[in-house]
Amino acid sequence: MQDSTFSDVSKLDLSGLDPLKFDPRKNRFDEPAKFLPVTFVLCQIGGLWFVYMFHHCLPLLRHNETFSHARAEMIAFNFVSTMLLICYVKSILTHPGSIPEKTADDDVWNLVAHDSRGSGADASGTGLHETKRSGEARHCKWCAKYKPDRCHHCRVCRMCILKMDHHCPWIYNCVGFGNHKYFFLHLMYAVIATNIIFWSMLRTVKNSLGSDTPFVKMFSLLFGASLACLLGLLVTVFFCFHIWLTLKAMTTIEFCEKSMKRTSYDASAYDRGFWGNIRSVLGENPALWFLPVNPPSGTGLAYASTEETPLRLSQDVEVGRDIRKKTHEKGAHKPTSKKRSSSAGTGECGGSEASSSHESE
Ligand SMILES: [Zn+2]
Ligand SMILES: [Zn+2]
Repeated sequence: MQDSTFSDVSKLDLSGLDPLKFDPRKNRFDEPAKFLPVTFVLCQIGGLWFVYMFHHCLPLLRHNETFSHARAEMIAFNFVSTMLLICYVKSILTHPGSIPEKTADDDVWNLVAHDSRGSGADASGTGLHETKRSGEARHCKWCAKYKPDRCHHCRVCRMCILKMDHHCPWIYNCVGFGNHKYFFLHLMYAVIATNIIFWSMLRTVKNSLGSDTPFVKMFSLLFGASLACLLGLLVTVFFCFHIWLTLKAMTTIEFCEKSMKRTSYDASAYDRGFWGNIRSVLGENPALWFLPVNPPSGTGLAYASTEETPLRLSQDVEVGRDIRKKTHEKGAHKPTSKKRSSSAGTGECGGSEASSSHESE
């Protein structure tokens, strides 16, 4: 497995590549068909907004006895809808974050720059939690880069995504370090909006059934309420799952890896405690948690006590290469497996063993 990986890396043609400019995602807008789910979601939001405003709020505003609560509902609904739209657009347009390209004084993540044969660096002492079984740093054969913790390659985006949660076709984007907050808030506002629509419109729907309401209006109200109910149920379950993941300091990928390995869900290496875990998704300032600004600080390259990872990885690449060279010269073919350092003792979380499966993606 390793040999084929290494030979694949050595076969990569990077000659025409300007690492400072290379961004496979810039062609994203050349594939309009992949924006169909986004269009579908926008149509649903627009349709529900139209039904709620024109068949529920505006008729109630015409009567004195229903004016005040209709106005309150309309203001609340439009505020939530606006926030929902902003969060949705930001989760589509915000880059989830990728491994930095080579710069003049920093090419620490560049696999080929460190070892033209594509051999991996020994990860012990780098502060990386997630390593291969052999103890080497994980790398991506498609991007020819070392992978920071929680980073995975996305086949759709054709790049490695920092703190990758999952690829979401409904936003035609990956959910990762850069846009996780916007994705989380867009779910939250979707839950609130669908609940407002369903619960406040029930009476209007009931009234429309027993009167001489025009068929189109009655159908629109029924359809709107049913759609809001169905979407509300789905989004609420999904949102609850994401709240749970956030409190457990896990991404969806890490949850799936733990499920497959049947390990405890309480053993995340990135657990910062209850409030710390919320801050790592919604940002440091609680006053701005529910607004689509102030995403979490940091680079997305290192977590917990691993802030110095890049430098140490760089040094370790050289050390690891020397060790392998000497081992090779001696003709020893022992595996380089080592006990992980104490800081990496929770290696069962994240993609240590599973890294190979993600590399092949
Ligand atoms: Zn990659
Ligand atoms: Zn993706």
